Amino acid sequence: MKLVHTKTELDQLVAEAKSAGQRVGFVPTMGALHEGHLRLVDIAREQADFVVVSIFVNPLQFGEGEDFDKYPRTLEADCEALEGRQCDVVFAPSATEVYPPDGKPGKPTERAGIIGSTFEGSARPGHFDGMLTVVARLLNLVDPDVAVFGQKDAQQVFMVRKLMDAKFPQVELVVAPTIREASGLAMSSRNRYLTPAQRETATVISKALRAVDFAAKHGLPASFCIEAGHTLFAGEPEAKLEYLAVVDPQLFKPVNDKFKGEALAIVAARVGGVRLIDNQIIEIREQDA
Ligand code: AMP
Repeated sequence: MKLVHTKTELDQLVAEAKSAGQRVGFVPTMGALHEGHLRLVDIAREQADFVVVSIFVNPLQFGEGEDFDKYPRTLEADCEALEGRQCDVVFAPSATEVYPPDGKPGKPTERAGIIGSTFEGSARPGHFDGMLTVVARLLNLVDPDVAVFGQKDAQQVFMVRKLMDAKFPQVELVVAPTIREASGLAMSSRNRYLTPAQRETATVISKALRAVDFAAKHGLPASFCIEAGHTLFAGEPEAKLEYLAVVDPQLFKPVNDKFKGEALAIVAARVGGVRLIDNQIIEIREQDA
């Protein structure tokens, strides 16, 4: 495994792989890697012969007052973890490589549109424009055949799919399932900020999603399913619910009570100072007889 910091070094390695006929897989991350990220690497390896993982904390997707400065930066430990998987190149660029010539991102070059200002986008204005801008930059830098993203960030996947369909049709998008702790808590780089008690509290997030799923399986309309999830949060005052919704996965818009079929339950909540998101694919069935 090689660690490179510049486009020039990356280009050379990717060009060598391609000229040897290898299919290039790409996993973009912000580092502070956990098992969820590492499973993305495993999936990339299944899909490709040569795997590039990028580690870049993108200033453009953090809003004012968000945790850009204190976002965990653990390159050495990340490289060690990646050594244990089949990663070929870790690309850890400086801001100057990603945003030439001076590392200042300036204005986003990609726009997330209307859905980009709902849910996560409403809580984090400009986040998706910044995320899409760096994804486009990284896809241009790495030039992969396949890119792997996690379902954990469902709204991100929705936006990235649109970006890739429009601007990177040659790159295959693979979406990897969410990896969870045994408690059900979705793995996240931000979980390290939770105390053991807060980790326990945070399990309400996945429990609420399971309650939504249970109600949906029994044919309850979407608003009742959401209510079932709210009930769990009502019993856990230390977790501050930001939103719990059921959206149509094709549109990322809330479904109405007539909706049947596959939907996506999405949730964001704060535990202590930590903002956590999660989601679950659900099936809203016909009402039980
Ligand atoms: P991040 O470093 O948080 O930007 O995440 C990098 C990639 O890892 C994104 O595609 C995330 O959706 C994905 N990811 C983060 N957490 C998980 C998880 N628990 N399970 C699967 N994928 C994840």
